Amino acid sequence: MDDSRSQLQFFRDIGVTDVFLERPATSAPASVSPGSMPDLASLSQFLEGCPRCKLSKTRTNLVFGQGNPKADLMFVGEAPGRDEDEQGLAFVGRAGQLLTKIIEAMGKKREDVWICNVLKCRPPNNRNPEPDEVASCMPFLEEQIRLIAPKAIVTLGTFAAQAVLDTDEPIGRLRGRWRAARGTRVMPTFHPAFLLRSPERKKDVWEDMKLVRDFLAGR
Ligand code: URA
Repeated sequence: MDDSRSQLQFFRDIGVTDVFLERPATSAPASVSPGSMPDLASLSQFLEGCPRCKLSKTRTNLVFGQGNPKADLMFVGEAPGRDEDEQGLAFVGRAGQLLTKIIEAMGKKREDVWICNVLKCRPPNNRNPEPDEVASCMPFLEEQIRLIAPKAIVTLGTFAAQAVLDTDEPIGRLRGRWRAARGTRVMPTFHPAFLLRSPERKKDVWEDMKLVRDFLAGR
C-alpha cells in the first residue's frame, strides 16, 4: 500500500471523517526575469516543456527560433504554423521559403540572421494569437532581443509589428518606416504568407528590405 493510502486508512481507523487537502498550485511557473539569462542556450533550456499558456497543450514542438546568435538582423513573425510546429523550426514552410528568398535578395543567408516569432507555440488551426498567449510569451522575445542585440529588427505582418511596437496601428501605415523600439530600430513589413496570396505587394517588401540592407551596410 502506498504512503498516502495507508495514511488515509489510519485516519479512518481513528475516526477522522473529513480531510482538507491543500489546493495544488495553479499558477504557471514564473516567467524569465528581464536580463537574467546569460545566453540563448540557457533561455532555450529555460523554455523547454514550457507550460505557461494553453498552447502548451496543443503544440507538437516549441519553436524557439534559429540562426546567428550574434546576428545584426532579426526577423520576427507571428507564430509557428503547421510545418514549424512539426519541425520545431521557425519559417520552414512555404512562407519560410519565400522569406529565405527575401533574405538572399538582401545579400545574406538564413544562417546570418536570427529568425523567430512572437509566439513560440502554434495556435490551433493557425488562429490568431490571444492576449494571454502574447502576455506569456513576450518576455521570451524581449530576452532574445536583449541577448542578440540586433542592429535592426524586421517584423513580418500586422501581428508582429503591433506586438513589437506595442501599437494598434494597421500594417498599411506601419510598413516601410523605421521605428525605434525595444532598444533598437524596427522595420515593419508585410508577412511572406500575405505575399503568397498577394504577389503584387512583393515590390513593397523589397522597398522596405532595401532600406534595411542599406542601413546595415552603413549607407
Ligand atoms: N508564419 C509565421 O508567422 N511564423 C512562422 O514561423 C511560420 C509562418
